[in-house]
Amino acid sequence: MKILKFGGSSLATAERVHNVVEIIESAVADGPVAVVVSAFGGVTDDLIAASATAAGGDRYEDAVAEIRDRHHTAAQSLASSGEIEKVKSSIDTVFDELGKVLHGASLVGECTPRTRDVVLSCGERLSAQLVAAALRRKGTTAEFCDARRLIATDRDFGNARVDMETTAEKLSEFFADRTATQVVTGFIAADEHGETTTLGRGGSDYTAALLGAALGADCVEIWTDVDGVMSADPRLVADAFSLPNLSYDELMELSHFGAKVVYPPTLHPARTHSIPIVIRNSFKPGFTGTRVTEQVLGNGNQVRGISSIDEVALLRLEGDGMVGLPGIAQRLFGVLASKNISIILISQASSEHSICLAVAPSSVDEAQREIDSEFELERGAGLIDPVVVETDLSVIAVVGEAMCRIPGIAGKVFSVLGQNGINVRAIAQGSSELNISLVVGRRNQASALMAIHNAFFAKPGRVEIERQRIPTAVLGATGSVGQRMVSLLADHPWFEVVEVSASQRSAGRPYRDAARWFQSTPIPESVAELEVLPVEADLEARLVLSALDADVAGETEERLARAGHLVVSNAKSHRMRDDVPLLIPEVNPDHLGLVASQPYDGGAIITNPNCSTIGLVLALKPLHDAFGLEAVNVVTMQAVSGAGLPGVSSVEIVDNLVPFIGGEEEKIESETRKILGRLEQGGIAEAGITISAQCNRVAVLDGHTECVSVKLERPATADEIIEVWEGFRAAPQWLELPSAPARPIIYDRADTSPQPRLHRDSESGMAVTIGRLRPCPLFDFKFVALSHNTLRGAAKGSLLSAELAVAQRVVPSIEWPPNGSG
Ligand code: ADP
Ligand code: ASP
Ligand code: MG
Repeated sequence: MKILKFGGSSLATAERVHNVVEIIESAVADGPVAVVVSAFGGVTDDLIAASATAAGGDRYEDAVAEIRDRHHTAAQSLASSGEIEKVKSSIDTVFDELGKVLHGASLVGECTPRTRDVVLSCGERLSAQLVAAALRRKGTTAEFCDARRLIATDRDFGNARVDMETTAEKLSEFFADRTATQVVTGFIAADEHGETTTLGRGGSDYTAALLGAALGADCVEIWTDVDGVMSADPRLVADAFSLPNLSYDELMELSHFGAKVVYPPTLHPARTHSIPIVIRNSFKPGFTGTRVTEQVLGNGNQVRGISSIDEVALLRLEGDGMVGLPGIAQRLFGVLASKNISIILISQASSEHSICLAVAPSSVDEAQREIDSEFELERGAGLIDPVVVETDLSVIAVVGEAMCRIPGIAGKVFSVLGQNGINVRAIAQGSSELNISLVVGRRNQASALMAIHNAFFAKPGRVEIERQRIPTAVLGATGSVGQRMVSLLADHPWFEVVEVSASQRSAGRPYRDAARWFQSTPIPESVAELEVLPVEADLEARLVLSALDADVAGETEERLARAGHLVVSNAKSHRMRDDVPLLIPEVNPDHLGLVASQPYDGGAIITNPNCSTIGLVLALKPLHDAFGLEAVNVVTMQAVSGAGLPGVSSVEIVDNLVPFIGGEEEKIESETRKILGRLEQGGIAEAGITISAQCNRVAVLDGHTECVSVKLERPATADEIIEVWEGFRAAPQWLELPSAPARPIIYDRADTSPQPRLHRDSESGMAVTIGRLRPCPLFDFKFVALSHNTLRGAAKGSLLSAELAVAQRVVPSIEWPPNGSG
């Protein structure tokens, strides 16, 4: 089950609703869906205005007639001809009720929060009926669903709190026997007497998350009018870009601070039920948007986003007598809490001489009054001064989960503001260091946002630099994997080969002469003339891809990491170190976190597993996640290209098979346990899986085939296994990394699949093709997996690891536009 929520911004016109219907239709084709909608764009604001007008005794009828016309026109264009009249009459029932309630408000000259909720509820009740009708017209069985029968709240009208338990019960009971697609009203709910309540402005997002949690949805998609959550409010910062992934905490901080895109309470049900939230653009359905999960993928460091609250007021309590006087803060917050005034930001200097708080402008007068009366005695005694109020201020929040690991972020923020002549009035940094907040004058808000955004994200001459790729060195460039890397990098969108190095024998010669070029594409001209450097050479390129032999790799790679390079290695030398990620980007992207404990100042080493391990582990990962792995038996049939250049002699391999590959079986067994292990404080806790490997060299040029038997911890059917394989997607797909396959795993149902010649090039050599899944008399299931050993298993796999490391800013000195748009 998937929940799709469409905001008012996606439902502004009938034409936009047609778009939304298409998005829903294509989701329905993939599986069960529940839809949540907001009121049509601007309607909630119009209803608020109408209720104020009515309460003021002025004419509200024209405004209501306009809203009614808008919905009638929409009905005309959205509903099928057979249904138009019925739909119009049922929306008119809503307008009748609206008219009565507003009339009542105008008579008594007041619109209480309770009445106002009834008025506001009309927006969603109208839009949901129209979207349901539009879906039916296109042939989807859809029903209007009024959330007031499902979402139970208290009576805090305008901002009601949800009774989670009752709501979850009602939702699961209601959805248990519904086959039609439900179009649910967002934002609205009811108290225990059935009286209408609302969940707070923007609350439809919350409705969607409540549904997601109660129904155990695979994800909640929030469709809006921008490319997901952006690095800053796109209306204020033109350069803002979409963030491909965020953790729940990061989104919480960003949305807390007024980034309108998601209503903050939405996070809670999603997080407690581990349901990913995906924010997408209904104007651009092909774009993946922002995926929000528990995982912190922005491993390296740095600021993720900047947000702001447009308007706040600052209250400052000061006085010589405050120093050392206990309980002041408690009384201060207590008195505000008792009046339901929420505090946006707090800061207290260690001298205790003053405490500063930011509140919404609408509560500043009351706050000032209450605080002054609370401290009346102290004021009389001259211990505390009257509260000082400053208005016309904005809050800027700089947010990033891993900011705590990078010293100097705060310093950079302040120096940038200083350089731009922007005065900072107050500062607060949460102890989690997830968020540095500062208060600036309101007229400085936009320039402060822009200055900070530029400092962290934009580069001088951005356009030019975007075209200039990241200078990259290839070590061991003349060997078989090195050549593959050079040829793959010829038109890589992010990386450009500027240095190549190889053994003494080749050093000093042009690459064209030194490499016995053995690839099916011509040698890239830009690299052909480079002089081959000795492996001992110092390098200019910050990014180093190493295809060195293990005998020289260990020392060379360490030397380069120490010198500040990001080394992505294909050699075994550092693979099993406690502080080195053994990375398959789809499987253990979080292991990049190990880099923080490496002893290199600014540099890092990341390794690529052995080629047969990669194919095996990709096939195992979804099984391990879904069913748990207890034991694995694997027999490999490995291609000759795995033996490097010149490789196995023809006399040994033609008409033959060699049942021995030095060190291979041990590598498969130990590497698999590390890769599937859990990242913990201080290293990886290896997965407790029993693994037995037997490896054979066969007369195939490229493509390792592996016959695997698995014993599972929890029961599974063959269909379930195929489903988890086929549905497997992970960080590289979400981030759309240049070398990522769209489908990392392909299940092929043919009796004779997979075969090296037929399947090794699937997804440009990056997919694992699996076939022949069947019960195993010894274990639970057996199957055959095939992967390209020099692409996925070596050169292109390393490239994908490098892309992930760069996208995640593992090494701060290597930057690339973090939206991966290249
Ligand atoms: P909806 O009607 O779909 O619920 P909202 O208006 O609630 O949409 O939220 C989307 C708007 O949030 C965007 O149009 C954008 O202007 C604003 N916004 C503010 N900050 C951000 C941000 N950091 N990322 C994305 N959008 C933001
Ligand atoms: N329609 C409501 C509002 O404008 C709820 C929502 O859009 O999420 O606040
Ligand atoms: Mg919204």
